[in-house]
Amino acid sequence: MEITDETWEIIKNNDKNFDNKLWYGVATTKIFCRPSCVSRLPKRENVSIFQAAEQALEEGYRPCKRCRPMDKIIPNEVWVEEIDLLLKNHYDEDLSLEELGQRLHGSSSYLRHIYKKIKGLTPQQELTRIRLEQARIRLLKGNEAISEIARDVGMMNTPYFIKSFKKRYGLAPNQYRKAYNINSKK
Ligand SMILES: [Zn+2]
Repeated sequence: MEITDETWEIIKNNDKNFDNKLWYGVATTKIFCRPSCVSRLPKRENVSIFQAAEQALEEGYRPCKRCRPMDKIIPNEVWVEEIDLLLKNHYDEDLSLEELGQRLHGSSSYLRHIYKKIKGLTPQQELTRIRLEQARIRLLKGNEAISEIARDVGMMNTPYFIKSFKKRYGLAPNQYRKAYNINSKK
């Protein structure tokens, strides 16, 4: 089916109002997606439009693992995997619970609920854990300013970073560096 300017706008804008109404496939990857898929925008000339997911399958396209165009209901375990992947790869970005919901196309309160149910902590607690662990690794190696490390791991509020670090590791970041970084300027 010929792709119209209107349809291209839907794909370009990740318009979720058209989820379950149309699907698009990418010739170069042979993967098909929902309009709302947040994966990288393909080149327009490689895009084909389908009126049903089954139609895409028949033409040899595989469902995208990210937007799961065959599923109406995403299992909780998959949501948790998606959240973990996002936190792991983007911990240095501004990831509020709302932002998480935006990026994963889910309700932020629901995501928080199932994440806590399955993992026993909230996505924000897990995010802080990852950030502090990344900061700890940096403290073991380098001599950057504490505020720089805090910023690089996504914690813009340095006093809060120091407080959280101390709570987790028992030492303030500068003390931790002095104690364990063999290159630290003593
Ligand atoms: Zn997709």
